[in-house]
Amino acid sequence: MLLASDNLALPLHLGGLAASERTAIVAEGRELSYGETAALARRLAGLFQDVRRTGRVGILASRSVAACAGILGTAWSGGTYVPLNLKLPEERLLYLLAALDLDALVVDARGARMITPAVAAAAPQMIVCGDNVRGIETVAPGAVRLSEMGEGGPPDPAPVSAEDVAYIEFTSGTTGVPKGVMVPVGAVNHYLRVTQAKFALRAEDRVAETCDITFDLSVHDMFLAWQAGASLHVMSPLEMVSPSRFIRDRRISAWLSVPSIIAMMRKTRALEPGSLPSLRLSWFCGEALPAGAARAWAAAAPNSHVENIYGPTEATVACLWQPVREPVAITPSREIVAIGTPYPEMEAAILDETLRPLPVGVAGEIALSGPQLAHGYFGQPDLTDARFPTIDGKRWYLTGDLGMQDENGLFHHLGRIDNQVKVLGNRIELEEVEMHLRSASGSDHVAAVAWPTRDGLAEGIVGFVVGDRPA
Ligand code: AMP
Repeated sequence: MLLASDNLALPLHLGGLAASERTAIVAEGRELSYGETAALARRLAGLFQDVRRTGRVGILASRSVAACAGILGTAWSGGTYVPLNLKLPEERLLYLLAALDLDALVVDARGARMITPAVAAAAPQMIVCGDNVRGIETVAPGAVRLSEMGEGGPPDPAPVSAEDVAYIEFTSGTTGVPKGVMVPVGAVNHYLRVTQAKFALRAEDRVAETCDITFDLSVHDMFLAWQAGASLHVMSPLEMVSPSRFIRDRRISAWLSVPSIIAMMRKTRALEPGSLPSLRLSWFCGEALPAGAARAWAAAAPNSHVENIYGPTEATVACLWQPVREPVAITPSREIVAIGTPYPEMEAAILDETLRPLPVGVAGEIALSGPQLAHGYFGQPDLTDARFPTIDGKRWYLTGDLGMQDENGLFHHLGRIDNQVKVLGNRIELEEVEMHLRSASGSDHVAAVAWPTRDGLAEGIVGFVVGDRPA
């Protein structure tokens, strides 16, 4: 069923927000009201609908006005946004452009630097760029600036179905081909509804956007903020160096990041007790949350509720939660916070190799089921079938995470059953690094390991190559 009420851009349009002076986005030194943001989204949607074939819009932008506008414009048009990493080598960007068959591309100043003649030739005709982009005309003469778009566009966000794909997030794949996780609108709306019901964001909230849009934690920040009529404060790469200063200067009240940021702040002594009084909601996700880090954050942010949330991109941001409050629920022998219990209507199970449930206390693979599951991987039906099996009539996602459930019903994360690692929050399959080491060195004897590690979190990857040629 097609419903305008399911459209992720609809909140911009409701409750008088579309005409409101309230701040929706603060990014790149600019402040955009809800009225301005809704107008941008509407006009972009008009452009995208004019060229619509696949409905897919690439966002070669992040942490910028163009990135937010591109995402909202795509949603308003009823399409699918696809974040493209700003650190992609040209070869990989060309591969994705060919595979995705985009209708349009949105670029910001950093994205524009990646538009080489080869990329411009492979990119869709319709390129929209931020107003601060310089020199794109030489490679893409038809590019339209946000401020140069004509009036118009569909007055209302397009009706969409819960099954329509809201976004495709690419993650590392073991074979060297990235996996594009297709997340439907219904899954995102379920995540937002459940999160809002529990944490009740308000229009006065000032929400930080801590991550690139190629990471699905950004979905939580952007859409929760906009649904609440709150302001989204997008951190630049430079501001990421000093998160505590950003939180204090902007009086941030809601924060979600990977736990690595706590480790970084503790290293630079930027996390003193009581130093972050403006925070009222803090979530950590994407990696194991060390108990010491969680306690240090709780002491620094004494007015904040702190929550450890767990989940893969394939189950839409997060689907298990565990509040951090004394006595903190700790995973035995790992000194990390438990991942807790599933969100309403979501289910978690611990399975053995034959996909049978294991009893309490026994370690196995964490599997997830429920309305937040993704459709699967873009253009990879076999991989989708392998990772999203149907067991006794119910669809599951096999996470590759090792876990167990304790006698109190809490789930615990015990590491991985494969070679996927998190490096500063980024999900990486070591086989993929090894594949590239092999082709770059010409040697078959290669290995990649996560190193150094601190508190169980990896800070880098070291590659080894055996051979007589310098690699
Ligand atoms: P991503 O798809 O990038 O969100 O990565 C998902 C993976 O990150 C999961 O499969 C886990 O291995 C890890 N992860 C996410 N949240 C947590 C958490 N709270 N505790 C432990 N590991 C986590």
